[in-house]
Amino acid sequence: MPLKLFNTLGREIQVFEPFIPGKVGFYGCGPTVYNYAHIGNLRAYLTHDILVRTLRRRGFEVCHVMNITDVGHLSGDNDTGEDKMLKTAEERGKSVLEVADFYTSAFFNDMDRLNIVRPTVIPKATEHIADMIALIKRIEDAGFTYFAGGNLYFDITRFPAYGELARLGDQRAGARTDLDESKRNAGDFVLWFTKSKFENQALLWDSPWGRGYPGWHIECSAMSMKYLGEQFDIHAGGIDHIPVHHTNEIAQSETATGKHPWVKYWLHNEFLVLDKGKMSKSAGKFLTLQHLIDSGYDPLDLRYFLLGAHYRSPLQFSFQALDGAKNSRKSLMDHIRRIHSEEKPGSHSADSYLENFESALDDDLSTPRALAALWGLIRDSSSRNILDIVVSMDRVLGLNLMQNLGKSESDPEIEALVAERSAAKKAKDFAKADSIRQDLQNRGISLEDRPSGTIWRRN
Ligand SMILES: [Zn+2]
Repeated sequence: MPLKLFNTLGREIQVFEPFIPGKVGFYGCGPTVYNYAHIGNLRAYLTHDILVRTLRRRGFEVCHVMNITDVGHLSGDNDTGEDKMLKTAEERGKSVLEVADFYTSAFFNDMDRLNIVRPTVIPKATEHIADMIALIKRIEDAGFTYFAGGNLYFDITRFPAYGELARLGDQRAGARTDLDESKRNAGDFVLWFTKSKFENQALLWDSPWGRGYPGWHIECSAMSMKYLGEQFDIHAGGIDHIPVHHTNEIAQSETATGKHPWVKYWLHNEFLVLDKGKMSKSAGKFLTLQHLIDSGYDPLDLRYFLLGAHYRSPLQFSFQALDGAKNSRKSLMDHIRRIHSEEKPGSHSADSYLENFESALDDDLSTPRALAALWGLIRDSSSRNILDIVVSMDRVLGLNLMQNLGKSESDPEIEALVAERSAAKKAKDFAKADSIRQDLQNRGISLEDRPSGTIWRRN
């Protein structure tokens, strides 16, 4: 069965066929690093992770590019508003690049804790200004720009296919409210600013249009094409990127190269919703992964929770729902641990579960059905020989199902007692070692001594 993906371009499920057989070029819009990522942002990166893991499991060679927006990002989708990077820097008394470095590290710390595989290439916007200028020059040479009020604009009316992704139709030239009087059409957008709308713009570069800085959308066009070529296979991001950001990326890229389609498949994830509103940093209050950890959750509880919904369905976040995910994950680990401790292999065939698992992922990355296939496997079988299949499934799920077998959960107190008992045994103080074992037994913890060390589990 082939891999099928829902392509926003065309609004239908399509069989995935890359430009070059066996190879996949994939670009996912990355973070703007002016604050911590909220858990709603993390849903997008987890979706990208499942896509990449699924492709690799099927044998595709994947080049995954994700940008870091560390330059004058403009809030919202309009070319007006405040520069969030600059605002945070001023509040903290730091330089813009110091702020960017700090939150870039924090972002990758979150990615690691969620077991998200690092992208192949992670370009920073500030290190690719020359590529952006070169691309803008090509768009200008092709006749799609005009200069007004100190800024270089893209004229959307010159590009007939504008808005195809978002199906903007006749609304395309008037859909937005914008106070910029230099624009010929409301939908036009800035490629290069020399007239900053913000005072004290921190980062400025020389360009053929004057000293200034790039518009937001151009970085994704420039950096994706630099690393993936002028046409590539998959581009992904949140659904909020469809009407403006991705629409503008297509306009820039296809007018610069004259090639269509710039990208074959567009994947968009739905939001994680909290309190009936989009979870957004701009709204002020937001939840981070660290908040969840501080509240006693393992990052993989969030991963499990997110996998429980299809990426194209809105997902309501609540602590009650996260508790449900936490309990399910614990139960799953307990089952696997029990199977792992079985002495002899059984004869149970698990092929049908693996087939269900693979067909779930092939059907537009259905992680809820993939999880159900895993559950079916471990409920119906207690023989150790299914563990190879668990490992195989976990290559996509990324729940560390086999790595964490030695401990049912992180519990510093129990781990300290286990270590104390090991030390007592080593010192041949067997009375003390036995008393600790008994103490743990009374708490419902059983121990197993192995050549590699002692593992513990709850009974
Ligand atoms: Zn982007």
